[in-house]
Amino acid sequence: MKINRKIFREYDIRAIYQEDLKGDLPYFLGLAFGSYINRKNLKNACVGGDNRLTTPEIKEKLIKGILQTGIDVIDIGIVPTPLLYFSVKFYKYCSGIMVTASHNPPEFNGFKMVVGDSSLYGEEIKKIADMIEKQDFERGEGKFEKKDVIDDYINFMIERFKFNKKLKVGIDTGNGTCGPLIEKLFKKLGIEFVGLYMESDPNFPNHLPDPVVPENLNDLIEIVKKYNLDCGLGFDGDGDRLGVIDDKGNILWGDQLLILYSREILKKNKGAKIIFDVKCSKSLEEEIEKSGGIPIIWKTGHSLIENKLHQEKAPIAGELSGHLYFADQYFGFDDAIYSSLRLLRILDSEDKKLSQLFEGVKKYYSTPEIRIEVGDEKKFEIVEKVKSFYENKYKINDIDGVKVYYPYGWALLRASNTQPVLVVRIEAETENELEIIKEEFMNVIEKFK
Ligand SMILES: [Zn+2]
Repeated sequence: MKINRKIFREYDIRAIYQEDLKGDLPYFLGLAFGSYINRKNLKNACVGGDNRLTTPEIKEKLIKGILQTGIDVIDIGIVPTPLLYFSVKFYKYCSGIMVTASHNPPEFNGFKMVVGDSSLYGEEIKKIADMIEKQDFERGEGKFEKKDVIDDYINFMIERFKFNKKLKVGIDTGNGTCGPLIEKLFKKLGIEFVGLYMESDPNFPNHLPDPVVPENLNDLIEIVKKYNLDCGLGFDGDGDRLGVIDDKGNILWGDQLLILYSREILKKNKGAKIIFDVKCSKSLEEEIEKSGGIPIIWKTGHSLIENKLHQEKAPIAGELSGHLYFADQYFGFDDAIYSSLRLLRILDSEDKKLSQLFEGVKKYYSTPEIRIEVGDEKKFEIVEKVKSFYENKYKINDIDGVKVYYPYGWALLRASNTQPVLVVRIEAETENELEIIKEEFMNVIEKFK
């Protein structure tokens, strides 16, 4: 069978519906995924889907395929992605597959897969594509079951979070899948909130549910200021990434959130390792050390960070992009809803406002992500050349691309895992220094391009 292999990406499968994702492809994916877990002697698969219009049809075909390989299917309905991960852990299912295209525009859909303790990625996703191409499937007859998991999830959270203060927060779920669940959960927890775009609407009429794009946070910032809220919480379309606004209306990125979470965790857990990706600020490293932790800088990318967390037995890991993985009192997968409650618990226990919690943290200036289109063939070659150029000039870290440490800042160049682009990010102690580093670094990249 002919498929476009490009849609089988590093961490997930994603495509435009009726273009590369059409016809019986979801059915064949079901056959392949079912066969894959069947060959690992696993028995069942939990299946969930996001709120997209095309999800029910895709999900039905997917389930039909999985069942025909002899694997039992537990259908948990329309839920945010973390609820699929939660179900696999909480009910001890062997695997899970989620129909979702996260924060992408309405015409997209896709799949995220978990087997055992971790997400399927890289070569393993390619194997699934191979199986579809070769029509290499197991056959059998699985049992089908529907299960409502939302109440168990909500009860799990209610048992673990109690709030004494009258916190008042803003929430923007961008008409994604999280809205209705968060509304129910936060009401039960007694958290007062002003909600934006919480009703599910897969046309995303207000903005795309992607809290890492600053424009998408404008409305949330406005209500935080207007109603004097303690913070604003932005959720992505399928609920695995969190964006936060402090009480003054400033955006807090994943690395800043990690500073707060690490401080709390390290109080009880001195010497613990904290994992974060190469894009994070130097201030995170400094604050982890101040709190008695061991900072571990690692490669950017969902499954890479998740695996490093398990490997190092770290209590928490996170990415600049807002994926946060708690393993101290949770299961170690990225759940923005859980992460938001952990933030509120910190606010509940502190006498300070959210913005005041960053007093004493050194301020750095950084560029947003600069993306340079170069093509898949050239991207790694350019990174290698830039690395050789700097190797004897400055201290470098080549764990993921090349990170060059200048006397007053750093510059990172890496090849994107998912796109034919180079990604640059620069940080410095002053705005002036940032400009100087940027000019030099971009010139070097230009030279090797
Ligand atoms: Zn997502």
